[in-house]
Parts: sequence; C-alpha cells; structure tokens
Amino acid sequence: MMQLLDNPADTILRSREAALDRIARCRDALMSLDFHGDFGDRTGAFTDRSRLVSEIVAAHEQIEQLDAALGQLARGLYGLCEDCGQPVPSARLLAVPLAKRCLACQTQVEQRAATPRMEVP
Ligand SMILES: [Zn+2]
Repeated sequence: MMQLLDNPADTILRSREAALDRIARCRDALMSLDFHGDFGDRTGAFTDRSRLVSEIVAAHEQIEQLDAALGQLARGLYGLCEDCGQPVPSARLLAVPLAKRCLACQTQVEQRAATPRMEVP
C-alpha cells in the first residue's frame, strides 16, 4: 500500500494530544474565572466563559474527527477520498490531516453547499 504521509498516526495522535491539552487549559481558565468583581469584571468573565466553552466544544469535535481518522487508518482507508475513493494527495493531507475528500470532490461539496437549493422536491 502506498504510504501517504510519513506517519499519519503520529500526526493524528499529536493533534489529539494538543487538543486534550487545550481542553485542560480551558478548563483551568474556566475554574479561575471570577464572577464576583464589579460589573465590568463580571461581563468580562462571562465573555471569557463563552469563549472558553466554545473552544472546549471545538476541541472535542476535533478529537472525534481525529478518532474517526484513526479508525480509517486502522481499516487501511485513511487518505482515500470518501467520494471517489482515490488517494487524497499527501500535500493536502499534510495541510489538512483530517481531509476526507480530495480537493476536486471537496470543492464540489462546497459549491453544492454554497448554491441555494432551488430544486422542487
Ligand atoms: Zn475525490
């Protein structure tokens, strides 16, 4: 089988660790937020809290995608385009390790998503 990246599992596991780190850091920051100051402090704390929460949610989503990629890797399907089954070029995988489609298919999907749905059911 063609080797698409030097070691995709390493790359994926490293991103996974980084995401876990980010979650831990956000949790710590959440714990240290102070909601007891004056109005300005509290408003700042609420803003920080929603930013931290969305960062944690994003990191969890990233971990889910990384786990899915690890699953694909285990089945020997990692790096194959979900739509056309062709290998995703390694340059693209290096830039986007979680790319599920080759650039051509991804562009089509994005164009479809960007075009307002006009068809009659
Ligand atoms: Zn494709």
